[in-house]
Amino acid sequence: MNKIEHIGIAVKSLESSNALFSKLFGKPHYKIEAVESEGVNTSFFQIGPNKIELLEATNADSPIAKFIEKKGEGIHHIAFDVDDIEAEVSRLKEEGFVVLNESPKLGADNKKVVFLHPKSTNGVLIELCEEIKP
Ligand code: ZN
Repeated sequence: MNKIEHIGIAVKSLESSNALFSKLFGKPHYKIEAVESEGVNTSFFQIGPNKIELLEATNADSPIAKFIEKKGEGIHHIAFDVDDIEAEVSRLKEEGFVVLNESPKLGADNKKVVFLHPKSTNGVLIELCEEIKP
């Protein structure tokens, strides 16, 4: 793994949270993107070298809706940048980590993504992401 790619925060309303985090960071989000496969709308903030992703559920079956129902709003996942997501998934499986989706999904911000089950990572949902090269 190379670095933290972003931190994902589950929010009830992207609109009001965009306003809140814009105030906090002193700058607006740089993009909004829907991720159909996950049932979420996302927005991204760039703070120096770091990125924050806000996630809002678009339907009741969305993992974000379920997360907020159980735990309320807050930090949802930490995403790590990897060079070769398939290789990283097989390495982590060999190490005993539980992978939520074997084959990478199309995530927000031009990424292939795989999630690790929080039960194998001390309760932290980990996202691996590999930038899709043009
Ligand atoms: Zn993410």
